[in-house]
Amino acid sequence: MKIAIAGAGAMGSKFGWHLKKAGNDVILIDTWDRNIAAIRENGVVARVKDEEIAEKMPIYSPKEIDEQHESVDLLIVFTKSMQLENMLNSLKPIISKDTYVLCLLNGLGHEDVLERFVTRDHIIMGVTMWASMMTAPGHITFANDNGNVEIQCLDLKGKDETQKIVKILTDAGLNASYSENVMYSIWRKACVNGVVNALCALLDADCKQFGHTKEADELTRNIVQEFADVAQYEGVNLDRKEVIEHVESLFDTPHYPSMHQDLVQNNRPTEIDYIDGAVWRKGLKHSVATPYCAFITCLIHAKEDILKVK
Ligand code: NAD
Repeated sequence: MKIAIAGAGAMGSKFGWHLKKAGNDVILIDTWDRNIAAIRENGVVARVKDEEIAEKMPIYSPKEIDEQHESVDLLIVFTKSMQLENMLNSLKPIISKDTYVLCLLNGLGHEDVLERFVTRDHIIMGVTMWASMMTAPGHITFANDNGNVEIQCLDLKGKDETQKIVKILTDAGLNASYSENVMYSIWRKACVNGVVNALCALLDADCKQFGHTKEADELTRNIVQEFADVAQYEGVNLDRKEVIEHVESLFDTPHYPSMHQDLVQNNRPTEIDYIDGAVWRKGLKHSVATPYCAFITCLIHAKEDILKVK
């Protein structure tokens, strides 16, 4: 199976590293020149325990992708949410009617973008609990060693092929499974991001600092309530109590979530429009009030402006 990974940042490089190491035919595609140069020279260098292990594989910028490249069997997208559509537009030469696209981005609504490029029976949605960080161009460090991947094709016609992809990911050490209700898992993870990512970025706090404030409980309940109210209109019935407990289980971790890393530590734009912002937008469509999500989205954008993110 010919696999392309679009977006060779923390997660794309991690998945590429594992899949290539397991013997798959993998290419990476990325827009960051210094990253491309570093991977061309040394491969993807992963820090595993105390060792650095390099895995070489071809990497291209989207502008180098043309009709001379063969179409791929599987395209795994790992850009940030706001980069997804541009990336897919530039990859049309390697997307054929037989290409499956696997999306493990955080956030909501990516399937609407993917449907502009492939049919629903070739769209595989998923969530992953693996975590990874970039320490320098071409260099990643694994943030956990007990992650997993849950995936499901949007149309039953793609189930058999998706199960083959489950096996490929698992054989590469990525612990994948086929989900019968992946949209539930996507919304559940979005609740975590909608509470801790956004609030830790706004408050410049880690999960533990935020979780130990007197306001954490009320904020969590109200935000999860808004996600659940909107999710219902999208055909997903979140178990509020379980989701709140899940979010609160992170309150003892002194970890800065990715939105804090992006906005506060690295001065990069956030994925807020695809998390709290998506719930605000979908709420407007379904006439559901989402004042917390709207306010948080506006505050994050104001902070992006103040910090002049690039
Ligand atoms: P990332 O920011 O590391 O990579 C995305 C893109 O940004 C890549 O094209 C990369 O080359 C580029 N990039 C990275 N650092 C850059 C820099 N300093 N300057 C310029 N460009 C840079 O994103 P990611 O963490 O791999 O996340 C991809 C998707 O996966 C997101 O939707 C994210 O929410 C989700 N996700 C991330 C993790 C994680 O642990 N990182 C876990 C689960 C899901």
